[in-house]
Amino acid sequence: MLVSQKIKIITGLLLTLFFVLSLAYLYNVTLPLNKTHYFLPAIFIFSAYIFAILSGYLIFGKWSIFLVILSVASTVFLADASNNFQYVFFSFAFISASLASQLYLKKSNAFRHSSAQKLSELKRETNQLREEFERNKELKLSLEKKLERYSELKELTETLSSSLNLKDLTHFITDEAFQIIGKSERALLFLVDDKKQTLDLTASKKMDDNLKIKSKVGDIFDRWVLEHQRPLIISDTSKDYRFPSYRSKSIRPAESVIIAPMMLEDRLIGVLRLEALERNIYAVDDLRILCVIADISCVALNNALLYARTEELAIKDGLTGLYVQRYFKDRLREEVKRATRKEYKLSLLMIDIDNFKHYNDKYGHAAGDLVLQHIAGSLHKFADTGDLIARYGGEEFAVILTEEDKEKAKKVAGNIHRHIAKDSVFLRNQKTYVTVSIGVATYPDDASKENDLIRMADANLYKAKNEGKNKVC
Ligand code: GH3
Ligand code: MG
Ligand code: MG
Repeated sequence: MLVSQKIKIITGLLLTLFFVLSLAYLYNVTLPLNKTHYFLPAIFIFSAYIFAILSGYLIFGKWSIFLVILSVASTVFLADASNNFQYVFFSFAFISASLASQLYLKKSNAFRHSSAQKLSELKRETNQLREEFERNKELKLSLEKKLERYSELKELTETLSSSLNLKDLTHFITDEAFQIIGKSERALLFLVDDKKQTLDLTASKKMDDNLKIKSKVGDIFDRWVLEHQRPLIISDTSKDYRFPSYRSKSIRPAESVIIAPMMLEDRLIGVLRLEALERNIYAVDDLRILCVIADISCVALNNALLYARTEELAIKDGLTGLYVQRYFKDRLREEVKRATRKEYKLSLLMIDIDNFKHYNDKYGHAAGDLVLQHIAGSLHKFADTGDLIARYGGEEFAVILTEEDKEKAKKVAGNIHRHIAKDSVFLRNQKTYVTVSIGVATYPDDASKENDLIRMADANLYKAKNEGKNKVC
């Protein structure tokens, strides 16, 4: 049986009991049968009982019924004892007032309860709103950062097309990648050497200028990008399964790396790399931006490469790779000026292949070309960094020896002369030896102007030829 049903039965029994008791009380004790004027108050009292008990139950539940019954019974008993029925009415007024106040309390409790509920709901909503606000704030920040990056990319695009100088351009691209993405210790740009299929460091940007970049060629990560022609992101260089030989010396000291290929149609012309000394530095978004930088830089970079190649073609001889006469003369003028200013000496060698016509006639023109390349290769072995080698004419070469006096120049000329004489070349499978005659002149000993210097070296060469060739004058 349910509790509420039990309570209802008990209440019913109690009501019946009090009904009987009240009747007995009214008829036998207080009211004599002949006094009919007591009948109406009796009905009123009885109804009031029921009302009090029911209200008590509705408001406070089962236990309050006993309280109500007790208080009503004691009031009736008091009234009977004092024989004054006014007490009964007073007591009902008191019970009603207390019931009403209890009802009010219950309602205000319910109100308080619902207010607390509303408050906690409001708090929850506030928290949700706060979280959303924080999320939006983060989103706003990231969007602002993106916008900033895109406006920087726009500027990059505009500036890229304004330069054709390869060195300036590669430095600019590297600086911009370093700047736009941030987070990095170093930014490196490698260009592909098509002949050797190597990656040569062309430009770099460092967080700390004291940081030295030891290796000037790409490591295994750069070569991976070269081979796969795909971007690469590494969160931890020591734990990347794609590179088992991670501890090898061919890796730069970096923990996080992102590399973007620089593709021109389907040809890779270079790679752009960012690296940091901490792990997990780069997000995929950073790599995406790096790829965008690499992509938009590619065309400008290729233009600069083409320009540099054209420039080189204009100043270099196609057959031997040596400088052409025009460029040689320009440089000689500059070098003489510099030597005057700094009070250095400077020497010039004019070299002519002996009986060159003979090789052409005997082995053909192609063999003659081979001899020219062979001599050009030999000359490279004797030139210092500041020196300049040129193909002065058909089978005539000129070498500027910067900061070298006559004695030193004669020594170099002698070395060249001996080396060429001993170094054989195969012409149509025949081991052949070639000799040269060399004329030497030194600034300012022999001449003070570049044209006179050329003339003097030429005169000495002529002298060597006249004295039987295969010698230095
Ligand atoms: P000498 O010992 O007096 O210097 O005589 P030589 O035969 O070396 O000089 P000469 O001036 O008589 O001949 C030079 C030849 O070089 C003439 C020309 O056909 C040839 N020649 C010039 N340029 C080239 C070239 O690019 N390739 C080839 N194969 N031959 C060339
Ligand atoms: Mg000759
Ligand atoms: Mg000649």
